[in-house]
Amino acid sequence: MRRILDLTGTSNVTALRLRLFAKVNKVPKGEWVIGRGWDQEGFTERRYPSRDDIDDLTRDNPVFLTRVCGHVALLNSVAMNQLGIDDGSTSEEGSVFEKDSRGRLTGIIKERAVEEALGEIRPWNDELIEADILAGEYEAAKNGLTSLHCILSSNYEQELKALLSLHAKGELALRYRIYLPVAGLEKLEEGESRQRVDDGMLKILGVKVYADGSLGARTAALREPYSDDPTNSGVLRYTGEELEEILRKADSLGKQVLIHAIGDAAVSQAIDAIESITRGKNERRHRIEHCSLCNGEMITRLKEAGIGVCVQPHFAISDTWALERLGEGRLRWLYPLKSLLKGGVTASGGSDAPVEPVNPILGMWAAMVGADYSPEERLDVHEALRLYTKNAALNGFDEGNLGEIREGFLADLTILDSDIRNIHPAMLRKVGVAATVVNGQVAYSYEGLP
Ligand SMILES: [Zn+2]
Repeated sequence: MRRILDLTGTSNVTALRLRLFAKVNKVPKGEWVIGRGWDQEGFTERRYPSRDDIDDLTRDNPVFLTRVCGHVALLNSVAMNQLGIDDGSTSEEGSVFEKDSRGRLTGIIKERAVEEALGEIRPWNDELIEADILAGEYEAAKNGLTSLHCILSSNYEQELKALLSLHAKGELALRYRIYLPVAGLEKLEEGESRQRVDDGMLKILGVKVYADGSLGARTAALREPYSDDPTNSGVLRYTGEELEEILRKADSLGKQVLIHAIGDAAVSQAIDAIESITRGKNERRHRIEHCSLCNGEMITRLKEAGIGVCVQPHFAISDTWALERLGEGRLRWLYPLKSLLKGGVTASGGSDAPVEPVNPILGMWAAMVGADYSPEERLDVHEALRLYTKNAALNGFDEGNLGEIREGFLADLTILDSDIRNIHPAMLRKVGVAATVVNGQVAYSYEGLP
């Protein structure tokens, strides 16, 4: 298995074809070509690519290219054959196999179908996974991150093995808070991962479950249909009972569940499920990831049920099509950062990398400048900082050790090249990281620093 092909920034289907063509020429016959990062909203055509767009580039390699959000993928015909996806494959239970008007598969699959297909693709190479982890870690350290809340993919067993091996060799420089996909809950149940590491540097905290998809792909589950697709309200991947079952199991193992919920239907489904299992005492801190479309009444329910959220302020900058998808009325409650904080909800800041840039300063900048449609949701610099420090520590069970610079706390520090306390928001994105210190050790320092 080779490195993942980066398709971010491709501006049309031809650009995607060119990058894929360059890649398939370097990959031995029969090997999988995995890519990520295309976005039909960034294409001049503004349509999904199909297998007919890429089938002529290789007859020998299965190709699997996920959209920027990770919730949609384009497969070539070779890949579909190998995965057993054929005209008999029908969309059900949160899985979508897109077909054209004549009922022929287009090569586009969505949501659970993506997850299941990725789980089938083997083999991946251990050494390359370790190298990829270290490369990603360096990027994070360079951007001033000291701890990573790290969501493993459907290939989690191999990824976990690589992380544990790097940890045992003393090669990890940052802290890892690890979440497996929901299939990993069974493994935790068998106690397999539990008996291994759980120290301050690396902890397996729980699982991430996807209640819905993304707004960009129109798979986020909405209460009312999409404004630019009135026949579609998105995809709820699980029933409420199924979510409750996952929460119950995790609770009994002492593990935390992150529920990915973007549309308002998914967010309220997640709140219902957590409420009914924890009855106001959310001790395992099950939290909602993204929580993108969330109105005032839902914010009150989050607070009362003790449910924290992890928000991605940079979405508001990237989602230039938000008005088309949701219409004006609903935009008021898209990414309600200030209302969440004012409402007493523990909101931490995430990047959703590789969906958005990993840089937390860009996240803070985005939280401060916000989107034009809801200026009332813009944060000040102290609130923005809290998302990435104190609240992040709380959402990862690290309060009392991390998230603040205080006597008795662990020495995780990010040293910036400017004082940001009174900075103009527009200048914040220019601020650089001089050094990143984790557990008293320098994990990164700007060239030229002693
Ligand atoms: Zn997510």
